[in-house]
Amino acid sequence: MKISWEPFRVRTAHPFRISRGVKTGDDLVWVRLEHEGIEGWGEADPSGYYGETADTVEAALRKLAPRIEEVEDPFALENVERDLAALLGRNGSARCAVSSALHDWVGKRVGLPLWKLWGLDPADAPLSSFTIGIDEPDVMAERTRAAGAWPILKIKLGSDDDEARLSAVRGAAPDKILRVDANAAWTPREAVEGIAMCAEYGVEFVEQPLPPTDNDELAFVRARAALPIVVDESSIVATDIPRLDGSVDGINIKLAKCGGPREALRMIHTARACGLKVMLGCMLETSLGIAPAAHLAPLVDYADLDGAALLRSDPFRGPHLKAGRIVLPDAPGLGVTRAADGEPA
Ligand SMILES: [Mg+2]
Repeated sequence: MKISWEPFRVRTAHPFRISRGVKTGDDLVWVRLEHEGIEGWGEADPSGYYGETADTVEAALRKLAPRIEEVEDPFALENVERDLAALLGRNGSARCAVSSALHDWVGKRVGLPLWKLWGLDPADAPLSSFTIGIDEPDVMAERTRAAGAWPILKIKLGSDDDEARLSAVRGAAPDKILRVDANAAWTPREAVEGIAMCAEYGVEFVEQPLPPTDNDELAFVRARAALPIVVDESSIVATDIPRLDGSVDGINIKLAKCGGPREALRMIHTARACGLKVMLGCMLETSLGIAPAAHLAPLVDYADLDGAALLRSDPFRGPHLKAGRIVLPDAPGLGVTRAADGEPA
């Protein structure tokens, strides 16, 4: 099997701010695996928070290339991915790109979309939320109105005045489902108060109230919380989940964190065994990056797969969102093609 890759840059439609910083774009890596005339595609969406950049992804791919070139049977996914994990450790987005490309190849080889290979029904996928980043309250209200077609909004908090921001958003969307993501910004006491404030504004649940280094405090917060708690930064891979049992209500899985669709499936089943709700999220990603998560969406309760919708332009076409509804293609594999006008650059 041959491997090649190409770094490229995407830009956001608006500056995208969360509790720990702002982004106007991201450097991503498009990975291609070729075998018997079929190409499988994947995308690495590295996150500095997890110690990755486009450069570390490329270094990881160089390290991995000799092992990929040895692959004679791409259907041997468990063996290949075991070696991938051993060679790359927690380079989640680099592993995700290769894992996604392997699954895309298998789907194309047998002529079936991944959702069908996994035995899923696209009609079971939940609606996806659309994210409103931290900004001045009036700007957040304006973005809320501009997101009129989206039935569910995820509001980033963990700012200097969370209530003014949430109040502005609620005023602009009196009837919508709102979810809040504090991105690890609160102390346990602030979390209890922040979650109570969110409850007053009719928020559905709160994501990642505490830093992942404070997992032991989650039970304290949950015992006093007026809303369910979903963790994101606190659960990277499946083995993180059992120790959260009893102190959270759900987990947010991101393929760029965990290492790809195969580990995401393990996370979904582990979370279910612990009685937890499951959400699928994303980084700033193109439709290629989102695709493997979109194919898994029929298995989860909540989706936040708006990464490509936050971009100024998307160089790929594939699974996409229509007013929050996840539209899964019948094309084989991930079902992703290049956009006619979208040269990764
Ligand atoms: Mg989050």
